[in-house]
Amino acid sequence: MEAVPGLQADQLGYSGRGLLSAPGIAMVIGLLGAMVGSFLNVVIHRVPLGESIVTPRSRCPGCGTQIASRDNLPVVSWLLLRGKCRTCAEPISVRYPVVEALTAVTFLAVGLARGIDSDLAFELPFAAMLIAVAGIDIDHRIVPNKILLPMAGWGLAASAVLRPGELPELAIAGAVAFLFLLVAALLRPGGMGMGDVKLAGVMGLYLGASVAPAMLVAFAVGPGWESQSWPAMGQVRASAECPSRRSWPSAVSWACSRAPS
Ligand SMILES: [Zn+2]
Repeated sequence: MEAVPGLQADQLGYSGRGLLSAPGIAMVIGLLGAMVGSFLNVVIHRVPLGESIVTPRSRCPGCGTQIASRDNLPVVSWLLLRGKCRTCAEPISVRYPVVEALTAVTFLAVGLARGIDSDLAFELPFAAMLIAVAGIDIDHRIVPNKILLPMAGWGLAASAVLRPGELPELAIAGAVAFLFLLVAALLRPGGMGMGDVKLAGVMGLYLGASVAPAMLVAFAVGPGWESQSWPAMGQVRASAECPSRRSWPSAVSWACSRAPS
């Protein structure tokens, strides 16, 4: 029997047969990413304000009208509405479709690079967490425990079930990354917050030994990012501007450096 030419599902690491073609799988992951990105917008907006991420439904900050489902499609609705509220024409920040598209592309890249298997249970939530944390850190310069603690719990629980043999390495990597940044934060007060230190620990739980190169990249890239290049999210503007000087980079969330306080 001749193999069907073209990109096959198993080239993506997908071991199942006959359910979906490779482009079909890619589309499903991309759509999943867009929907998760829509949820991340809610997380970025509400978690720092202490609001529920479940209820109520999103409303236009201009006129208070509840956003209809048809106007809540990731990326597409923003484009169809040309970035304006359907009711009052209040501009909707471009950040919303940007986060949705970024998450879709990130999920797609993770699926292509890592293959379609049970490891996605770690990889996709981890990628989503980084996007949410980056958005919140840029706006508020905090990394909320409300995100870090559940993610640490998920990392440990899912590892215990899916890859118990790696659990010791993951736990050690988390502890070492946490302690390394803790020492760095203590040596350079004002350079990093405790949120970064805890985030490094959570990253170790997901990445294992790979947390070391990941943090090197973050330290190299971090200083080049400025919050001003990130579109503000509607009425929730950054509560404080970035200091103009570039000091120690905000470790792993690509955010601007913290002001000494
Ligand atoms: Zn409106």
